[in-house]
Amino acid sequence: MPDGRDLDREGVTGLRHVAVVGASLAGTRAVDALRAGGFDGRITLVGAETHLPYDRPPLSKQLLTGTWPVERAQLADAHHFADLGVELHLGVAATHLDPATLQVDLAGGASLRPDAIVLATGGSARMLGTGGLAGIHTLRTLDDSLAVKEAFDARPRVVVVGAGFIGAEVASSARTLGLDVTILDPAPVPLERVLGSRLGTICAELHSDHGVHVRCGVPVAGFRGADRVREVVLGDGSTLPADLVVVGVGIVPGTGWLSASGLPIDDGVLCDEFGAVDADRRILAVGDVARRRDPATGTTVRAEHWTNAVEQARNAVGNLLAGPGNGTPYHPVPYFWSDQHGIKIQMLGRPAPGDDLEIVSGSVADRRFVGVFSRGGTPTAAVGFDSPRELAGYRRRLAGATPQAVIARTAV
Ligand code: FAD
Repeated sequence: MPDGRDLDREGVTGLRHVAVVGASLAGTRAVDALRAGGFDGRITLVGAETHLPYDRPPLSKQLLTGTWPVERAQLADAHHFADLGVELHLGVAATHLDPATLQVDLAGGASLRPDAIVLATGGSARMLGTGGLAGIHTLRTLDDSLAVKEAFDARPRVVVVGAGFIGAEVASSARTLGLDVTILDPAPVPLERVLGSRLGTICAELHSDHGVHVRCGVPVAGFRGADRVREVVLGDGSTLPADLVVVGVGIVPGTGWLSASGLPIDDGVLCDEFGAVDADRRILAVGDVARRRDPATGTTVRAEHWTNAVEQARNAVGNLLAGPGNGTPYHPVPYFWSDQHGIKIQMLGRPAPGDDLEIVSGSVADRRFVGVFSRGGTPTAAVGFDSPRELAGYRRRLAGATPQAVIARTAV
C-alpha cells in the first residue's frame, strides 16, 4: 500500500473504492496509476481471463516463434497486485453495470458497488463462419497464441486470412519457423488501410521476399473440409489447400456486457477527451474499448494500439483523481509498431487516403527509411522502417498537427 503521502483523495473526490473491469494492459496500467496518483482506497481489478495480466504484442511474435517463454509476456505478477493492495478477481466476467448506482454484477452472482469504475474490457477477435471445422483460429488471447503455436508444431500449410498487422505478424512468425504460408486479403496490398498503397506494396514485397505467398485483391468465400479445414475457398472460385487457418480480421469491442446499461455505445464505449463516460466522471473508458469524442472536430476515435492503452489509462485515472472540472484532456500523437520479418515498422500520427508520402531519409530498397505523410504541406504522419531513432524526432513535430477529422470513426 502507499505510504500515506498526499492521500487525502477522499476529501477531494469522495472516492473510497474504484473498480477496474478488464485485467489486461489498460486495466493494469489503470490500477498502477491509481496508486501512483496517491489513491489509498479500495481497488478491485476484475478480469474474465484466468491468467494473470499479460502483454499481447508477443502473442503474434516471440511466443509464436518460441523465442520467449510464456512468463516473459506477463505484465505483472501476483506480488505486484498484493503490494499495491489490489483485490484481483480473475476468471470472473462482469455481466452488468448499473450506471445510476455503479453496481457491477459479476458472473457467479457476486456484485461490487464502487464509487468509480474504469471500463478496460478491450475487444475480442472477430471470427468468420467456420462451418464448425476444426483448425481455424483467431489470435487475441494467450490461449489463442498457445493453440496456434502448438498447431505450428505439426508443420501445417498455413493460410492467414486478413493482411492487417496481426495477420502479417502471424505470417512472418510462421515463415520464421519455415512453414508454408499464404496470406489473403480483399484489399490490393497488405496493410493498405493503415499504411496506404505505396507502403502496402513495400510490405507485400517484404513478405514475398521471405517466402510468404501473398494473395491480395480477393475475398475469402468459405472453408471446406470433413471435420478439419482442408481448403480455403476464395471469392473467385479458386481454392487453397490449408491445414491451419489463422483469421485476423479485426476485433469486436468488449461492450456486450454493457448492452443493458444504457451507456453510450457505438463500436466501443463513447467517452469524452478526459476518458469520462458520464457527466460526473465516475465511469471511465480506456484502451481498445474506448471511443473518444474529439470536441475540436466533432469526430470520435477508437485506437487498438498498445501505447494508446497505456497513455489513455494513465490520463483517465489522473482525471478521475483530479475530480470533475479538473484534469487534462487526452490528445495523443497516435503511435504503433509492428515487427515483420525482422523489420520494425513504426507509425506516428495517422495518414488519410490521398495524403502525400515522401521518403525523407534512408532507402526503400534497403527497407530502412523514414517517410512523411502530408496534406496541403502539413505533416499528418511519419512512418519508419527499421529507423526508430530517425522517427523519434517526428513525435513533437506531429503533436497538434494530426488531423483528427480524417480519423473519424476509425478503429485502428
Ligand atoms: P485487451 O488487451 O483486449 O484486454 C481487455 C481485457 O478485458 C481482456 O483480458 C478481457 O478478457 C477482459 N474482459 C473483457 N470483457 C470483460 C468482462 N465483461 N469482465 C471482465 N473482464 C473482461 N499494439 C501495438 O501497438 N503494437 C503491436 O505490435 C501490437 N501487437 C499485438 C499483437 C496481438 C496478437 C494483439 C492481439 C494485439 C497487439 N497490439 C499491438 C494491440 C495491443 O495489444 C492492444 O491495443 C492492447 O492489448 C489493448 O489493451 P486493453 O487492455 O485495452 O484491451
